[in-house]
Amino acid sequence: MRISERLARIKPSATLAVNTKAQELQAQGREIVSLAVGQPDFCTPLNVCEAAKAALDEGFTRYTAVPGIPELREAVAAYYGRFYGAKAAAANAIVSNGGKQVLYNLIMALVNPGDEVLIPAPYWVSYPAMVQLADGVSVFVPTTAEDGYLVTLEGLEAARTDKTTVLILNSPSNPTGCCYTQVQLEAIAEWARRNNIFVISDEVYDRLVYAPFEPASLSKTWEAHPETIAIVGALSKSFCMTGWRVGYALAHEDLVKAMTKIQGQSTSNINSITQRAAVAALTGPWDVVDEMKRAFVRRRDLAYEIITGWGAPCPKPDGAFYLFPVLDQFYTEDAPDSAAMCTKILEEAGVALVPGSAFGDDKCIRFSYAVADEVLKSALAKVGSVLLRK
Ligand code: PLP
Repeated sequence: MRISERLARIKPSATLAVNTKAQELQAQGREIVSLAVGQPDFCTPLNVCEAAKAALDEGFTRYTAVPGIPELREAVAAYYGRFYGAKAAAANAIVSNGGKQVLYNLIMALVNPGDEVLIPAPYWVSYPAMVQLADGVSVFVPTTAEDGYLVTLEGLEAARTDKTTVLILNSPSNPTGCCYTQVQLEAIAEWARRNNIFVISDEVYDRLVYAPFEPASLSKTWEAHPETIAIVGALSKSFCMTGWRVGYALAHEDLVKAMTKIQGQSTSNINSITQRAAVAALTGPWDVVDEMKRAFVRRRDLAYEIITGWGAPCPKPDGAFYLFPVLDQFYTEDAPDSAAMCTKILEEAGVALVPGSAFGDDKCIRFSYAVADEVLKSALAKVGSVLLRK
């Protein structure tokens, strides 16, 4: 089969092996609990679904403008004003198929062949693959559980070369749940600006931040320096809309135009009905997000207690719905790395997890706590019994 060289360089997703194994076991009738999911276990809010139904009944089913309908682009711009005091126009917003397409468009629009892109590790799985698709070079900046998985200016400076053009920041982070404060984000943005490095700030979990931690965003800094930063947001996680596929960027008008060019030649506008639903989400009540946050805080505390009770180093995350403990002290001869250990846990405990190697840290395993409390408790007890077995 003829496949391009570009694609041959892309590694298949490391999460695939565990997923395939989980499906095999399920097909054999085994009960499998998944703590591998990257989505909330709540339903999309009713007002959002109603807006979609109304759009359908109205026949709002045709092509729209590529970067989104004007009221949605306005709602995105207004979102950053409402939560972070950033002044932006509809022309600074583009809506794409999830945060993922926003990131893909941005990387394609910003990265030239051979450009070095700084990616703090552990990182979200798709960043390096996207950089590679743009013929750029990913340069990982390691962080550790002891540092709270936060990159420092010294770490960034050590990784910077004269080929560095872009830095991808992610806060709250997938896979660690760790968050930068506003002060830390701004210091990094200032360092990047001084060094002529563009910052992509992936803030898709920005509404899932737990008190007393204050949500932070580079959107206000973007307003002051719009040619050096782009903000990535999405409704997937905060509004339980993973399947709807709606993400957005806040960026300089010229960058929005460049992204629109890419999107216009690949997918065109996102689903018209979803766009109406997204307007309802962005402009409607936010109490459902608060309710969900209460459940996530409870589950985070529950999972954190159990996992650290095993003696596993793990910073307590302030956002998202993941924990990323260091578990390599439990790896065994028959399960010497994170992928093998996840397969062993799946086979012996019936619990699916994502190996840290997928996120650039083989010492760790990612646990999602976006499941009911009782399910979480019993799944963690089973995982513990495999890990702690002598
Ligand atoms: N960025 C991060 C850090 C994520 O965890 C995800 C999804 O898991 C995305 C972007 C993509 O989100 P979406 O589902 O909106 O495409």
